[in-house]
Amino acid sequence: MKYDLYLLKSHLPEYLRAIGCELNFKHDTTFTTACPIHRGEKQNFHATQKPDGVWVWHCFSGCGGDGGTVIDLHSRLNGVDAKTSDCIKGAAEVTGISPIEETGPKPRNHHREEKAKSGIRWSGELIKGTEQTWKAFAQKRKLSFPAIHAAVHGGILRFLRVEGKQCFAVTDETHRAGEVRRIDGKEFYCGKVYGLPGVDKSWLPGAALLRETKLEKSVLICEGSTDFLAAFDAYSKYRRADGEQSWLPLAALGASCKHLHPDIIKHLKGRTVRIAPDGDEAGEKMGNHWGEMLSSMGCLAEVLEMPKGRDLRDMLESGELKPEELYS
Ligand SMILES: [Zn+2]
Repeated sequence: MKYDLYLLKSHLPEYLRAIGCELNFKHDTTFTTACPIHRGEKQNFHATQKPDGVWVWHCFSGCGGDGGTVIDLHSRLNGVDAKTSDCIKGAAEVTGISPIEETGPKPRNHHREEKAKSGIRWSGELIKGTEQTWKAFAQKRKLSFPAIHAAVHGGILRFLRVEGKQCFAVTDETHRAGEVRRIDGKEFYCGKVYGLPGVDKSWLPGAALLRETKLEKSVLICEGSTDFLAAFDAYSKYRRADGEQSWLPLAALGASCKHLHPDIIKHLKGRTVRIAPDGDEAGEKMGNHWGEMLSSMGCLAEVLEMPKGRDLRDMLESGELKPEELYS
């Protein structure tokens, strides 16, 4: 059995919580806890998340817990050699990470996935891909690897073949809405976006993650999957640069979406919601309509205005809009 080591190493907090540790976060990227190795009471165990997402720890009590990743911690706690596959498997099991399956992703939650069977009829098998897939995708689309990794892990980015071409899909685990485009940026016979039967446009891909987030988390609604991935990338950069605000980007599939799914309304109420439509006539209409709709739902709605003929991705790629401005 193979495990995604990068994924495992980015889940130290989950591992510690699973063994009963209480974590005291100073920022999103540092926390302390009572050392589970020497079972002390003081907050001697310090952990930091590196820019690539991997967590490293160190115990300052001198207990001999001289640090490393979650795998080294599992090794120390269980007396198994950190270099063995048993140690990796053990750490993954405690954390709740499944082995990599080449034949497609195992749903993290069977119940949710079953409910979704009435949703989109995908035209190919959706796969999670491997580290190689993600690296190539990040490079081709000029996006950062940690952002892509987070998107795949969050279930909002998947890969598939359509018309014999390599494609990516932006969706979420509800499979209510999604958009498929070619990785090389070229068009299908039917246009840039592959038409999928069963898409519910009142659902915003990414919104499945709303259920797990606190009310303090604000929401950025982008127009289409390309802007969405750019926004996701910018958010990852913002957080790695110590940005303190907490945001969740979501994708609206086209400026003409007029209604929101009741499950989304329920989770958006009371949040700050920023809308980033394209700088064109359809975008302006979308901004006005969504601004009013979200305000009437009890959200603090803000509409960002893009210059004429530009969209969010253009503005982020050219550096005219900085991640810290978008997520201020
Ligand atoms: Zn210790």
